[in-house]
Amino acid sequence: MSGPFPVENATVPYWRTQLHHLDSHRSTPELPEKQDIVIIGAGFAGAAIAHYLLKDHPDNKPRPSITILEAREACSGASGRNGGHIRPDLFVGLAACMQAHGLEAANQAALFEEANARALEALVREDNIDCDLRAVTTGDVFVDAAEAAKIRKLWDAMAKLDCPTLGRVAAHLDPREAERASGVRGARVAFTYPAHVVWPYKLVMHLLEEAVVAKDGAVNLQTRTMVHGVSEALDGDGYWTVATARGPTRARTVVFATNAYTAGLLPEYDEAIYAARGAVCRVVVARDGVAAATDNSSSSSSSSNNIPLGSAGLEMESPNTVDSYYGLRADGSILVGGGKSVFIDEREEWYRNYDDSTLIEATVPYFDGWAARTFTGWEGRAETESIWTGIMGYSADDAPHVGHVPSKPGQYICAGFNGHGMPNVLLCAKGVAEMIRDGRAFSETGVPALYETSAERLRRISDLVAAPTAGRARADIYLKF
Ligand SMILES: Cc1cc2nc3c(=O)[nH]c(=O)nc-3n(C[C@H](O)[C@H](O)[C@H](O)COP(=O)(O)OP(=O)(O)OC[C@H]3O[C@@H](n4cnc5c(N)ncnc54)[C@H](O)[C@@H]3O)c2cc1C
Repeated sequence: MSGPFPVENATVPYWRTQLHHLDSHRSTPELPEKQDIVIIGAGFAGAAIAHYLLKDHPDNKPRPSITILEAREACSGASGRNGGHIRPDLFVGLAACMQAHGLEAANQAALFEEANARALEALVREDNIDCDLRAVTTGDVFVDAAEAAKIRKLWDAMAKLDCPTLGRVAAHLDPREAERASGVRGARVAFTYPAHVVWPYKLVMHLLEEAVVAKDGAVNLQTRTMVHGVSEALDGDGYWTVATARGPTRARTVVFATNAYTAGLLPEYDEAIYAARGAVCRVVVARDGVAAATDNSSSSSSSSNNIPLGSAGLEMESPNTVDSYYGLRADGSILVGGGKSVFIDEREEWYRNYDDSTLIEATVPYFDGWAARTFTGWEGRAETESIWTGIMGYSADDAPHVGHVPSKPGQYICAGFNGHGMPNVLLCAKGVAEMIRDGRAFSETGVPALYETSAERLRRISDLVAAPTAGRARADIYLKF
């Protein structure tokens, strides 16, 4: 067994401090001998695929039998340990995507991310999901002088192009205005736009509860069930055999919602999706501190904790790094992720590192001083309440892989969401559910063409990885949270 595979004794993220009753659930004591569909992975992607398979299932057809196999606890991977912000990339990410894939593809991806945010908002409202979803104004804030100069030029250039999402972005190009709008010390340029923050574990667990409990046990959830592999070929009855730590089970359809760990089961994705370790912490007002808890909700106006934006990515250094990002919670605490500047050169700390049972030590002092360094009025007032690591599934060409696994009929993938899954996963999952249930072609799902996985794309990635600039390209991809 080579991996990557989820490890034991993962660090405990703030989001997983109030565990749901399905966290370590097994619907049946034994695995079913066979079923129609096995979904591997109970993160946002696996839960959302199950949700959509059931939600839109026609009443006049029997429901498929579905089992979710999860190596650890439900939502214990990236979805339970991320920064909790949902930031459709309307400008900076759009520009990066345009450089790599062209304007049309970039516009499609940006509009898709916005559509994800709308779909999530509607889902939370309609299903009355208790997951602290809040609309906020977010920002991309540039402190580094060289990066600020570059981004100003990029803004001017992009403004001349036909980019529908740019209309939702406010540019604060004057340093005083950038600092006022963002609240970030020394900000030179800031771009602000609509986004959300969420408690991701609560969201995912609601989707699982609905699939596993509310729909009369339609989905069999099996946590603490590591999958070791899937057979090379279908058996005589048309089933794939899924080998697990608790014995084999068979399925006509197998879905890999395994994100960072995909190559452990599909070695052909080893170059395409690789593990990258990241760190997040929760910063709270120190007991004797006075920075008041506040609800910044959708407002971008100044508030008593001196933080005008509900979330942001901060570009502190050149070249092209989003050094940290944060999201504010209604209780006044701040979820801060990143800190790459202090460990990016120690490649073994993050690159192909899938150990979320240990911390990235250099981030501990980094996060301790983060609030005071970043915002005025936070000196001596903030402390790190908890800190953890998580494993991202980095995609070598920066786009998720969605659709049919090449040459394996009945196998699907929905993985490789980088550090940016929250504004992408939901509608990718819906697309995969439609492909499985309705036999839809990928092109009919509304998922950007760029995200379609294929043998040709895997071949192109192989060429990219073999290119002399590969090391640099990979580092840059990591830099783009
Ligand atoms: C530290 C960190 C910060 C992040 N911050 C943000 C953010 O603020 N905003 C944002 O948009 N995105 C963020 N992301 C990315 C986001 O969390 C992911 O893109 C998203 O959660 C991916 O969801 P998923 O379901 O595909 O993956 P996961 O949640 O990782 O789910 C995959 C599941 O598959 C299971 N699994 C894997 N292999 C096997 C196997 N062999 N057998 C059984 N089960 C298996 C895993 O245990 C896991 O539970 C962050 C990620 C990390 C790690």
